[in-house]
Amino acid sequence: MENYKPLRQKQQEYFRSNQTKSISFRLEALDQLRSIIKAHEQEIIDALRKDLNKSEFEAYTTEIGILLEEIKFTKKHLHKWAKPRKVKTALSHTGTKGYIYPQPYGSALIIAPWNYPFQLAIAPLIGAISAGNCAIIKPSELTPAISALIKKMIESVFPEEYIAVVEGAVETSQALLNEPFDYLFFTGSVPVGKIVMEAASKHLTPLTLELGGKSPAIVHHDADLKLAAKRIAWGKFINAGQTCIAPDYVYVHEKVRESFLTCLKDAIADLYGKQPLENRDYTHIVSEKHFNRLQEFLTSGQIAYGGKTNKENLSIEPTVITDVNWGSPIMGDEIFGPLLPIMEYKDIDDVIAGVLNFPNPLALYLFTSDKQIEHHVLESISFGGGCINDTLYHLATPHLPFGGVGTSGMGSYHGKSSFNAFSHEKSVLKQSTVFDMPFRYPNSKDGLKWI
Ligand code: NAD
Repeated sequence: MENYKPLRQKQQEYFRSNQTKSISFRLEALDQLRSIIKAHEQEIIDALRKDLNKSEFEAYTTEIGILLEEIKFTKKHLHKWAKPRKVKTALSHTGTKGYIYPQPYGSALIIAPWNYPFQLAIAPLIGAISAGNCAIIKPSELTPAISALIKKMIESVFPEEYIAVVEGAVETSQALLNEPFDYLFFTGSVPVGKIVMEAASKHLTPLTLELGGKSPAIVHHDADLKLAAKRIAWGKFINAGQTCIAPDYVYVHEKVRESFLTCLKDAIADLYGKQPLENRDYTHIVSEKHFNRLQEFLTSGQIAYGGKTNKENLSIEPTVITDVNWGSPIMGDEIFGPLLPIMEYKDIDDVIAGVLNFPNPLALYLFTSDKQIEHHVLESISFGGGCINDTLYHLATPHLPFGGVGTSGMGSYHGKSSFNAFSHEKSVLKQSTVFDMPFRYPNSKDGLKWI
């Protein structure tokens, strides 16, 4: 097993030199990051095509554009976020001033997954840089072209004592996790999240976990069915369903089941064409292992749409599966592929009970115009984040924290939340020397009794 102690120590020493902490240094690093993304735009698009057959449109919108926006937003607000904040003082603290100093942790380890392999490695890095940290990125081994490109890009502008990229698989990840980093940021599956948290506990390293889960889309009878179908089809089949917040399954009111299914089929045909496997812009499944796993689910219910596969290039049609219940194999775990099971309901409370049987979803999507239903669902189900009458869109605004709850994750990021994730709030009280309040001392007559 490789030893990453020298690299980790080099970063921690560099961090102690305080160079990464000045705002001008951080802004310059963000500028450098932006320039390398701009300069390598075509290479990023090509690498994503190679690893996942991502279309140029998806590569730009979901991996490049989103990062450029995040950098712009962070740069605009950084001065304000990083400034020490003065807070009120209690009466008992008369004469003092209280401040909160956002402080970087030190050297942060960022472990990324393969599904948005560029975005999910670089978005946490924006947070790490903005807060003044050093960082090591470990990209996913399942997307080797992007992994190599990230390394080349980062090495072209940053010294390794500031930002480094370590490529490799599980063993590399575990060797890195053996080191006492100052912060861990992990994006990936729930089982590996547990391994990461266990490793963090050995050094009491604070961490963010961005995990997964089964995210429902609920279509109530009063929903705009055409729009609901289009937005669900988009959110599910983008990246061939390999999106952590993709609607995992649909729960549709029985009164509108048939009309919704018709709208859904039309929407899929409209977005991906009648022969999606021949659409050169349709994303492939990342590996044979995942392809085989997904193919087994095709017998889990009735195929209402799609269902064709191509093992040679690991692609699976956008597929709608009906006659599914909670006991069906496809409902056992996060699907993470282009298969959309449909279940029906009569009473919204049955939906709530069903969803609550699973661990907290990472996302939830509700399609309705009924405010009472909206309130009831939002109040009854704990989930990471989500949308009313849309899918995925909550992820793309820097004004909303993005993260899970319970088994879908811990902590959040994007926008100011990224800065917060990589900062410790150091509390400092500045005391007056002009006078000295007597009541705290043991020889004061009444102590704090006057409060
Ligand atoms: P994964 O957990 O298999 O791998 C993620 C990273 O962990 C990779 O870099 C991998 O090399 C490393 N890793 C794998 N096994 C390890 C081990 N035993 N010890 C240490 N490190 C290990 O996840 P994945 O398959 O790359 O991604 C898919 C999962 O990620 C899905 O569950 C999805 O929901 C989740 N995800 C979550 C988010 C989010 O923002 N919440 C985003 C994308 C993906």
